[in-house]
Amino acid sequence: MTDFIKQARLGVQGLAPYQPGKPVDELQRELGLTRVVKLASNENPLGPSPKALAALQLALANPLELGRYPDGSGFRLKQAIANKFGCALEAITLGNGSNDLLDIIARVFLGEGDEAIYSQYAFAVYPLSVQAVGATGVCVPARDYGHDLVAMAEAITTKTKVIFLANPNNPTGTWFSEADFHALMTRVPAHVIVVLDEAYGEFVSDASALNGLAQLGRYANLIVTRTLAKAYGLASLRVGYGVASAELSGLLNRVRQPFNVNSLALIAAEAAITDEAFVQQTRALNDAGMSQWLAATQALGLSCLPSRGNFLCVDMAAEAMPIFQALLREGVIVRPVGAYGLPNHLRISIGTEEENSFAINALARVLNQQVDG
Ligand SMILES: *Cc1c(COP(=O)(O)O)cnc(C)c1O
Repeated sequence: MTDFIKQARLGVQGLAPYQPGKPVDELQRELGLTRVVKLASNENPLGPSPKALAALQLALANPLELGRYPDGSGFRLKQAIANKFGCALEAITLGNGSNDLLDIIARVFLGEGDEAIYSQYAFAVYPLSVQAVGATGVCVPARDYGHDLVAMAEAITTKTKVIFLANPNNPTGTWFSEADFHALMTRVPAHVIVVLDEAYGEFVSDASALNGLAQLGRYANLIVTRTLAKAYGLASLRVGYGVASAELSGLLNRVRQPFNVNSLALIAAEAAITDEAFVQQTRALNDAGMSQWLAATQALGLSCLPSRGNFLCVDMAAEAMPIFQALLREGVIVRPVGAYGLPNHLRISIGTEEENSFAINALARVLNQQVDG
């Protein structure tokens, strides 16, 4: 028999598929549960922006359009993004989720013999995208679970082509300051691409926090990626964007699949991106939920990594997998992060107040049982 693993490129042979959160209906079917709360994928508990929903409904009133290919240039969405941030249309690259952009960046800049740097505990898609194109991932040890930007600068070699930064990072929730970012950038050679992944940027309320889009004029080698999946509640539709110089964006657009963002995603994203009220409501709900979880975990004697995202990485002070399994039986889906090298932590997305209470009560019961049993 042919061993097809050996036929795959070397980088792919070493990959494991990305593990998504368990779907709600699957768990409901498996365990016959009446109620399931999913706090596993950092989705918006409010669902999509109502403006996006209204635009989708309008689009469905004209179903013939769904038989046509989408606008491959994504002109109207790019215009809405350009208006919002005051950037040029040519600076924007649309993605089928911002995951797609990470893949596109890897395909444009990386190949055999090249190195890409990312942090320990950083988003799992960076090593996936890097290894899939045959390049070498250089994983730099974290400091206090966050990116050690000084160590990352020291890891740069003549082979380094790309540096991936997540701010805030998933699954840890950690962030770095604008000053530390500038200190890194001054040490990065001008030809090395820096990807600043701001998937959770909208959740950061601190006005002094680093805003990647404000740095683009200063650094020609910077690509900022954002998504409509998290704060805008469009995770299912898959739409994200990258902003960079027109030159870098032009390179990304050479490799981008011509119709990578579907029509409904374009329509929903165009409406959502202008819905500032919804983002504010989302942020307020997240801030309140974060406080609720911090108080609850403290009362349970658990510590959390500091987080600026819409999730918390909670130290279970024990092997987390049995707790994850017990929570499933209670109808609560959270995210184990053992694959990230965090076997004692669980990542818990912030839900509505009511979802949080349901999950907190379940967690309290589970921890009690673990002590009793
Ligand atoms: C969720 C997430 C993304 C991208 O999500 P998309 O749904 O593909 O837009 C990117 N980076 C980080 C760190 C994330 O957590």
